Amino acid sequence: MSIFSKYEPLARSLAAVTHGGGRNPFSVVIDHPISSTVGVIEGRETLLFGTNNYLGLSQSEAAIEAAIDTLRTHGVGTTGSRIANGTQGLHRQLEERIAAFFRRRHCMVFSTGYQANLGMISALAGKDDYLLLDADSHASIYDGSRLSQAQVIRFRHNDADDLHKRLRRLDGTPGAKLIVVEGIYSMMGDVVPMAEFAAVKRETGAWLLADEAHSVGVMGEHGRGVAESCGVENDVDFVVGTFSKSLGTVGGYCVSDDDGLDLIRLCSRPYMFTASLPPDVIAATMAALSELEQRPELRHRLMDNARRLHAGLNAIGLRTGLQASPVVSVVLDEIDEAVRFWNRLLDLGVYVNLSLPPATPDQHPLLRTSVMATHDAAQIDQAIEIFAIVARELGLGQ
Ligand code: PMP
Repeated sequence: MSIFSKYEPLARSLAAVTHGGGRNPFSVVIDHPISSTVGVIEGRETLLFGTNNYLGLSQSEAAIEAAIDTLRTHGVGTTGSRIANGTQGLHRQLEERIAAFFRRRHCMVFSTGYQANLGMISALAGKDDYLLLDADSHASIYDGSRLSQAQVIRFRHNDADDLHKRLRRLDGTPGAKLIVVEGIYSMMGDVVPMAEFAAVKRETGAWLLADEAHSVGVMGEHGRGVAESCGVENDVDFVVGTFSKSLGTVGGYCVSDDDGLDLIRLCSRPYMFTASLPPDVIAATMAALSELEQRPELRHRLMDNARRLHAGLNAIGLRTGLQASPVVSVVLDEIDEAVRFWNRLLDLGVYVNLSLPPATPDQHPLLRTSVMATHDAAQIDQAIEIFAIVARELGLGQ
């Protein structure tokens, strides 16, 4: 028997998606980027409406220059883990910069955001503890909880009352309770009601970890995320985030005021047993962070663009989430329809993400669309027009 035979159902699903000459939506190649908003795909200039590059900083001149300078002075890699030879002065500097940005005492930097969740959740929650996870949590949160061996309790998406009820049932049980929520949920772009979760945390004595991967640089007066915009930063014990979205580079982190964070460096396997970030990435990240801090207008432009895209897609009769956020997902009913829609968008020069069940909330296929601060109004209007053309072709919308 083939070692791959267990994946036959997966192979059949993929064949169904690509039959009739459709593309494989999970192996699109962007031949090269031309700017933050335009890339070459299949030899054609294509509008990018499916990245997490919310502020366009992957193409920041300052970040590029900082990376090049640092390559010349520090080389291309560390060849070691953070607890061996992989901590350079730059890693410490970056941790201090991130901690200062969040006004927290401590920061740990990981090699990706995935590893930050994996490493924090698995180390914070031991086998006698409880993890309370939003049902729509990111894969890295679920994977971290498996690695932790803690008891996992899921509560209804964004429902603080449901969480409260489930915590009540744990009254009197020993073991720490760690609530995990996200700032902006990546599939539908919906924002967490953080103040409600903070109130439950205060009332029950649980701990609260917020993954602000999609909300840092996007929400809050200073870009510190949803906790900042809701005025409840003091209630969040641990903020996890990534450099791979609004900061445009790669890497992950956790910040906290709790002195215990330093101990996690010695027991978090995803922190300890992998190579640390290369120096040029650190330099680029620090330059991008300075830009994020010094250019609040990027955040304002991003939200204006989000409202324009959200309103435009709704105006042509497509179904999206209720809130305008930088992620605007068009919800469809049939996988077949979503696959055809996505292929036609790309034929006509617009790239978005196709998200399929089981990875989507409520098992609906999604055309996950995201905006950037660097899109101009004409690009957004053009994308909406192309959505309208395809919707008409498929007999959807108005
Ligand atoms: N958390 C959330 C909510 C995410 O959406 C992602 C990335 N999709 C991550 C964590 C992982 O981040 P990274 O890309 O840095 O591994």
